Amino acid sequence: MVDSQEFDSELHRTALAQLDRVAARLHLDPDIHERLRFPRRALVVSVPIRMDAGRTQVFIGYRVHHNTALGPTKGGLRYHEDVNLGEVTALAMLMTWKCGLMELPYGGAKGGVRCNPRELSRAELEHLTRRYTAEIILLIGPDHDIPAPDLGTDEQTMAWMMDTYSMTQGKSVPGVVTGKPLIIGGSAGRREATGRGIVYVLYQAARHLGHELRGRKVVVQGFGNVGSVAARLLWRDGCVITGVSDFGGGVWNPAGLDIRQLEAHVAESGSVAGFPGADPLTNADLLEQPCDILVPAAVGSQIREDNAERIKASVVVEGANGPTTPEADALLHDRGVTVIPDVLANAGGVVVSYFEWVQGLQYYFWKESEITSRLQEIMARAFNRVWALARKEGVDLRTAALMEGVRRVAEGHRVRGLYP
Ligand code: NAD
Repeated sequence: MVDSQEFDSELHRTALAQLDRVAARLHLDPDIHERLRFPRRALVVSVPIRMDAGRTQVFIGYRVHHNTALGPTKGGLRYHEDVNLGEVTALAMLMTWKCGLMELPYGGAKGGVRCNPRELSRAELEHLTRRYTAEIILLIGPDHDIPAPDLGTDEQTMAWMMDTYSMTQGKSVPGVVTGKPLIIGGSAGRREATGRGIVYVLYQAARHLGHELRGRKVVVQGFGNVGSVAARLLWRDGCVITGVSDFGGGVWNPAGLDIRQLEAHVAESGSVAGFPGADPLTNADLLEQPCDILVPAAVGSQIREDNAERIKASVVVEGANGPTTPEADALLHDRGVTVIPDVLANAGGVVVSYFEWVQGLQYYFWKESEITSRLQEIMARAFNRVWALARKEGVDLRTAALMEGVRRVAEGHRVRGLYP
């Protein structure tokens, strides 16, 4: 097989190794396997913006479409200092499997700009987003590729993208992005969707494992869109949230944190650090604290070979994309830890993005209760399919989830054939 050195990164090597393993298990047609190893297209752009201080600074941005066998591409936009082509390509590939697994009519994409959004003013972020959107405009569109928020981006970013795209079309095109504010065609429940999906899969896991979720001790790494919502909903459902962290560090209280008060503290100070009534600890220490459920919901490669043995949780539910390295995955598996993989655990976001896109195309909006009940049904169905396949094949949940996702995409290629 040809080496895809253009896309080389640790995460991409992991994604390829996962695909190769799953392809072997599925006895995948080698010609289709070869196609799945490469992104369909990848664009690298420079994004020059005038900074508040008056000078011009150039940032590097990417948009990668991994696969279009099942429909237009879908995937988040990430603003982070570590963004590079290999990482974005790997994340686009993961999105392909995630959309396949969740039975959505999409292929996977991902975008990113290498920057530290916390160091940019609101005006600089707006310039960055608008110029990036203009640079990738040939690749996006409501039937083409539909970005959404990810690490470091939010509803406001999506509103700027939607406005920039719409200005070039001479009309409003809400369907070009999802995760928009409600007032311009966003969906009820989108902001909470990924965190809510995590809770739904945890309920299914608890049922299969014969546990009660109520009263379980939970540690959450990352207190952004995904982590804060997961923490709040689990806390509301009677879990004891003993530790939480973000870029500023962690806070720990074995008797449980009051998540509403913690949210107020973050709104005021910008970080969970310094929350009164809790002890400070580092992000690394937080992961190793005694708990039942660990929710990594920040960045990739947090559970590694060097700390996996010290993870005390019996269930790890991956809110973030790629938080567990393959070596750590094997160590956790050997110790009987249940790892609910990213492609399944954090799929609530793309599922409700799909709902938002459908509502936008129909100009007909659903009630939040309809959205949450449909989300719950889809998450539960996917979890149960993955659980049953894992039992049948004698594999872990990640392998089973990827088998489901890859199988559907490969089937799309088989029936479509190869052009020309
Ligand atoms: P976000 O920017 O809203 O929040 C990220 C959080 O992680 C923040 O609290 C930040 O302070 C913290 N953080 C950043 N770097 C950290 C570090 N090195 N150590 C500890 N904490 C750190 O992002 P988000 O949308 O919540 O995304 C978090 C993860 O979930 C990402 O991996 C993303 O790809 C994944 N994800 C997000 C969605 C979504 O709908 N937003 C969907 C699927 C997957």
